[in-house]
Amino acid sequence: MRFPVLKLEKRSVCGRSHGCCRMRSPAHRTRDIERQAGYLKPEHCAPPPLRNSSDTMWFIRDGCGIVCGVITWLLIFYAEFVVGFVMLLPAKNILYSLFNGALFSSLAFLALASHAKAMCTDPGAVPKGNATKEFIESLQLKPGQVVYKCPKCCSIKPDRAHHCSVCKRCIKKMDHHCPWVNNCVGESNQKYFVLFTMYISLISLHALILVAFHFVLCFEDDWTKCSNFSPPATVILLILLCFEALLFLIFTAVMFGTQVHSICSDETGIEQLKKEERRWAKKSRWMNLKVVFGHPFSVAWLSPFSKPDHGKADMYQYIV
Ligand SMILES: [Zn+2]
Ligand SMILES: [Zn+2]
Repeated sequence: MRFPVLKLEKRSVCGRSHGCCRMRSPAHRTRDIERQAGYLKPEHCAPPPLRNSSDTMWFIRDGCGIVCGVITWLLIFYAEFVVGFVMLLPAKNILYSLFNGALFSSLAFLALASHAKAMCTDPGAVPKGNATKEFIESLQLKPGQVVYKCPKCCSIKPDRAHHCSVCKRCIKKMDHHCPWVNNCVGESNQKYFVLFTMYISLISLHALILVAFHFVLCFEDDWTKCSNFSPPATVILLILLCFEALLFLIFTAVMFGTQVHSICSDETGIEQLKKEERRWAKKSRWMNLKVVFGHPFSVAWLSPFSKPDHGKADMYQYIV
């Protein structure tokens, strides 16, 4: 009689970024230690937590990630301060100030909300310690079928899940761990991360345009009239905002493009980096976008407050 095969996962130990992932060829996979299900020793795994993980808020206690997250919020508040108090309040045209103030503040609010949702949403963590004999039996594997076990968090991981050493969990469709949102980017929070990069690039572009207009205004007008601050303070505040906006525009626009490309091609950052062979069904680009942003297409795609409905596309295969 043949037993289902349990493989100890050694191919996807991932740390803070793409760069730390070890490259493994398909040949490595076949060299993983194979064990029969009968040899599985559940006592080596911590028992699964009794409480439902959805009861508690998801938050990664990582010092570096928390500092990066706080810096992100402070930089957005700095931009809001300079745009509002240095540029728009002293402007003579009230309509110009109202329109740009409302637009910038709305985009900044959506960026902050997307950041908070990306940070506090479970990215798709596989239940910890579920590599028990009962769970393996419940999968009703056929003889010879293979499941992967993560030795770090003692979980039976679905296909396309990877272990994150910062989150200390296996994450479904893990793309990368982002310290700026202090969380992994995975199957369940990718929408919020993409929205975060999009809104940050939009407010950065808006801030750059406003700074350019304000410099022109100040050069044409008297420097003492174009700002409530002294001319040197105004120049320093505007130049700092200019640098910040330029840096974030480049960084987040590139990240946004990379994310949309990886969603359309249905290949996560880790899979692209490791050049993993494709074991999952190919779908159209439009369908791949719907898997991340929800069915059907609507204005809710742009809202960080709308939870995407993954539908049937959420089904995962444990069997490789
Ligand atoms: Zn793991
Ligand atoms: Zn992580």
